[in-house]
Amino acid sequence: MSPRVVEVHAYLVNERASAGPTLGASSTRSTRAATLGLAAVVLSLALFSIFSAYRTETLVDRATFQDTLDHAYRDANAAILGAEVSELEFLLDPSPAKRADFMAANSAIDEAISRIAAMGDQEDGRLADELLGLHLQYVAASARVVAAMSTGDIAEGHRVDHEEGDPFLNLMRARLTAATGLRAAAADEAFANLRETARWILLVAPIVFAIGFTLMAALWRVLGSYQRATRKTYDEIAQLSKLRGEFVSTVSHEFRTPLTGIQGFSEIMRDEELSIPEMREYAGDINKDARRLARLISDMLDLDRMESGLMTVRLVPVDLNRLLTEAAAQFRLDADDHPIELDLDQALPKVLGDPDGLTQVITNLLSNAIKYSPDGGAVEVRTERVATAVTLTVRDHGIGVPADQLERIFERYSRIETAATQNVQGTGLGLPIVRQLVQIYQGSVWATSSPGEGSVFHVRLPLPAASPALHAMQPLPHVQAA
Ligand code: ADP
Repeated sequence: MSPRVVEVHAYLVNERASAGPTLGASSTRSTRAATLGLAAVVLSLALFSIFSAYRTETLVDRATFQDTLDHAYRDANAAILGAEVSELEFLLDPSPAKRADFMAANSAIDEAISRIAAMGDQEDGRLADELLGLHLQYVAASARVVAAMSTGDIAEGHRVDHEEGDPFLNLMRARLTAATGLRAAAADEAFANLRETARWILLVAPIVFAIGFTLMAALWRVLGSYQRATRKTYDEIAQLSKLRGEFVSTVSHEFRTPLTGIQGFSEIMRDEELSIPEMREYAGDINKDARRLARLISDMLDLDRMESGLMTVRLVPVDLNRLLTEAAAQFRLDADDHPIELDLDQALPKVLGDPDGLTQVITNLLSNAIKYSPDGGAVEVRTERVATAVTLTVRDHGIGVPADQLERIFERYSRIETAATQNVQGTGLGLPIVRQLVQIYQGSVWATSSPGEGSVFHVRLPLPAASPALHAMQPLPHVQAA
């Protein structure tokens, strides 16, 4: 049976693009909408408060006015009653003191009616004029009562009072009583309105404010999340541009070193008389530098092709142990200080991958393990089957990776710049390539480390039976059955 093979088009696995909301036209629109919404809610709450305060104040003013006017009417009623009493007392005791009281009571009526005219509206003014007219007639009759009484003609005084004064007083009282009733009713109504409105505000305000504050809190949260997304995007852009800058200087340095070698050795070969063995040695050095250049260029191109989805990979079941054994043999040739110890699961099933890509994964991890262990130390390679996957771990005893850099080192161009790494050659492309390849095989890769004691790189690859791509022969997104 021919091995089942699928082709995978490495797709742009751009973690930044999938890491959350990005800064785009739609997020700007949403931010603007949320800001406008927030402003609208605040404005509505402010308008509601202003309207409630204005309405309450208007009703309080109206009720106060009606109440004061009602009191003015009551005062006028009391003044008429006072005039009646002091007139009666004067008729019983026509002494100068009682006469003075009687006159004073008449003045009090005048004042009370004038207050009604001053405080009230047009209708009150008309009524006050009418009352003042009646009061004038009553005052004239009172003057006649006083004149009769001062001559000692008590009977005439009583007659004038009864027939000429009382009718005006009664008329005034009747008009005033009717108007006072109306005013009292208006004051009651004004207070009832005020009470009703206050109750309405008391009931509606908590609901309106609760809704308003809930909306504000929700919109605030939305704005906060957009603000965070914006900040994150800017941070990422800044980080990316910093990395690109670092990359340009790293790459130019990495290109310059082999080029200098090639240039120097070729000049020696051109200008000097060399023996065949010496020629061979220099040609070997040139070849080494040229291969280094070629590897650098192909790393850059590979990563670009993988990230832009242009790389096509043939996935077949691969014997991972065999690839590890071969790679370890290669590294052992010139890594004396770094004994490579293999602890391979002999019953390891084949994994889904492409031999070249997997070799590159292994090579990059082994080469890093050696490069970043400047004081030497064993590199331990271990494979194991776990449930439906295979794990590969590469452990070294080198400088280690700080905890906050464990994810960042898988990003393009990322290098940890420390005194320990400054003399180590590298471009920051090795681990991003590893991650891209492992993701193409539907696996995952991550690192753990105790800085100063070493690092462990973990690769998890699904078994063909557990891989949807091979198992069902159903194309995954960007995966085609060959
Ligand atoms: P480079 O070409 O710089 O080695 P990589 O992408 O392979 O690029 O690694 C990125 C960075 O991760 C390295 O510059 C180094 O700082 C860190 N790193 C990778 N592997 C190891 C390791 N085994 N031990 C310590 N640091 C490592």
